Formats: sequence, C-alpha cells, structure tokens
Amino acid sequence: MLTPVLEKLLILQDRDLRRLGIEAQLKAIPREVAGVEQKIAADRAAIETARTELKDLEVAKKALETEIGVAEQKLAKYRTQQLSVRKNDEYQALGHEIETVQGQIGGLEGQELETMYRIDEAKKRFASVESSLKLEIAAHEGRIRTLREREKNLTAELGSAQSETATAREPLTPSALRTYDRAGSRGMPAVVPIRGGKCGGCHLKVSSGTESAARGKDPDAEFALCDQCGRMVYWES
Ligand SMILES: [Zn+2]
Repeated sequence: MLTPVLEKLLILQDRDLRRLGIEAQLKAIPREVAGVEQKIAADRAAIETARTELKDLEVAKKALETEIGVAEQKLAKYRTQQLSVRKNDEYQALGHEIETVQGQIGGLEGQELETMYRIDEAKKRFASVESSLKLEIAAHEGRIRTLREREKNLTAELGSAQSETATAREPLTPSALRTYDRAGSRGMPAVVPIRGGKCGGCHLKVSSGTESAARGKDPDAEFALCDQCGRMVYWES
C-alpha cells in the first residue's frame, strides 16, 4: 500500500518527468536548427563555386578577344606597310611578320573556341547545380520553419507542465520535497518501487532495514532510501 505522501510524490514525479521530457526536446532544437543552417550554407557555397567557375571562364574569353583584337590591328598595320614598301627584302620581312601574327591569331582563336565550349559546359553545370540546390535549400528552410513551430508549441507546453508541477508540489511537506529533490538531482526517477528485493532505479539489492522501512515497519524512518543510489523506494504490494 502506498502512503498518501508517496502517492503525491508519484504524481509530482509524473509531472516532473513530463516537464523534463519537454525541456530535453526544447534543448535539442537549436542544435538541430544549426545543423540545417550549416547544410544551407554548404549548398549556397556550392552554387557560388559553380557561378565563379562560369564567371572566370567568361573573363578568360574576354581577355582572349582583346588579345585577338590587338593582333588583328597589328596584322592590318603590317599589310598597309607592305603596300608602300619598295624593296623586296622589306616586303618579305613584313610578309614574315604577317605570317607570325596570323599564326598567333590562329592559336588564340583555338583557345577562344575551347573556352567557349567550356563556358557552355559550365553554364549547364551551373544551371543544374543551382536548380537542384535551390530545391534542397527550400526543403531545409521548410525544416527550420517546422522546428521553430515545434519550439513554439513545446514552449507553451512547458509553461503548462511547469504550473502542473508547481501545483503537485503544494500539498507536500518541505521535508518530503527536500528528500525528493535531492534524490531527483542524482537522476530521475527519484521515487521507485522495490521489486524482488531490488531498487527499481539502480537494480541493486536493498538492505533489510531499507526494505522494512519501505514496508512501513520502521516507525522512525520518514522515507525509505535506497542504500546504493539514494532514491526514495517504496514497497509495491
Ligand atoms: Zn537504488
């Protein structure tokens, strides 16, 4: 038979366990949000990497175009000079210069074509990375909204759990509360049954003195405490 005090302590313990469960869930939320935010940051960084790759190639293409332009001006100048020279060797020297510049232009145009091809590839890659990661980011953001919503609900639940706990403490004496709080501070549950001669908290055998106190056979003992873990123990009949 449970004493009225133990009955009240078990009610308090039920409510405390519920309150602690809510607190643990609430405590886990910021870490979870931070984890999702890290994933969003990684996705954004991956999009930026693809964007930079494309931009770098476009810059390289512009530089090649400028180089080709300069070489073409040089070519035009040599051709004009060639029209006005009289001496054969000068004519031939310019012809040689013209061939060299034409060769350079050919090389640069080859590089330009290669770069254009790479730009096309980079554009495709960027588009696919951006569209798939944007979807992923949207899903992550949805997850954060759900977590925030849960945090709000749990905070409200915690408020009512706290007031229920306070209500359950009211009928208990300071001495009972002190003993309960001390046992609970070492680990919940604070109040456990003795089963098969063993403490329901640490599962170690209780002494015969503790057992008879739990059975209510020791008039001096206000509460029976496990010899090993200090939990409040009661006799379950
Ligand atoms: Zn114990």
